[in-house]
Amino acid sequence: MVRENEIRPSEMAVEPPPATDAGLVFIGRIYSPWTSRLKAPRQGRQDGPLCRIEIFDPWVPALDGIGRFERLEVLYWLHLSRRDLVRQSPANDGSARGTFALRSPVRPNPIGTSVVSLVEVDGPVLLVRGLDCLDGTPLLDLKPDRTLFTPIAPPQPGDFETGD
Ligand code: SAM
Repeated sequence: MVRENEIRPSEMAVEPPPATDAGLVFIGRIYSPWTSRLKAPRQGRQDGPLCRIEIFDPWVPALDGIGRFERLEVLYWLHLSRRDLVRQSPANDGSARGTFALRSPVRPNPIGTSVVSLVEVDGPVLLVRGLDCLDGTPLLDLKPDRTLFTPIAPPQPGDFETGD
């Protein structure tokens, strides 16, 4: 893969089926210090640089209450990725692994996820640390970090099912 869309020895591309419209909408945009895939971190770090997430209208009211969470899960669309590799060679050393055994940006649906520290919420803008995506990356979703979130809705039977 993929430092910038090349294909390496031992990697395998397929002809993907035509994309179907899952009805995704980009709800905002991420502004980061990185303009090159070759320089962005491979994974964000909690003490990494501040990044800005801007939420588009009409989604701004959906931020209500988000400030109470110290950490968020951010889902984004790695829009420059190729989408056709099923085996990839991150080390470019002749060995390859399956795409689903990697966190590579190259995937059939190039969704990236990061857990970020929430630093500030100011209207439609969030300041966070912990991202690894390029400046201008489209935003798909924001959620409280699952380890900080307790469901507010009453429990339902499946919550108590175990095993078998
Ligand atoms: N943290 C996410 C995850 O694990 O799902 C993404 C990890 S991915 C290895 C991060 C790399 O994706 C960066 O180092 C950069 O090379 C690449 N990348 C970042 N933003 C991108 C974008 N908008 N389109 C394509 N590739 C991108």
